[in-house]
Amino acid sequence: MISKKIKEIAKERIEILFDLAEKEFDEHPERSNRYVRIARKILMKVQEKMPKKYVFNYCKKCHHYLKVGKNATIRKKKNFVNLTCKDCNFTRKIYVNKKNN
Ligand SMILES: [Zn+2]
Repeated sequence: MISKKIKEIAKERIEILFDLAEKEFDEHPERSNRYVRIARKILMKVQEKMPKKYVFNYCKKCHHYLKVGKNATIRKKKNFVNLTCKDCNFTRKIYVNKKNN
């Protein structure tokens, strides 16, 4: 059993890691990719999913940190967006819930 407390700590760490990834991306993209990897490891350990707010910030295939306009492109469709990772060319369809947007 993974306690709530541990999950909370894990979530905090994920936020810190994505913050760092964002800051380092321009100069050291490889560090950003490492932060994403660490974040994913933490999530696996606590059996949690990636928080929704970071859905556009990493590639599900190559697990690189993604920054729209830099190494990722976004194409808006009617009910979804296509997020393309320029590093591995993987396009992910992300459904947008209108109620939350
Ligand atoms: Zn990729």
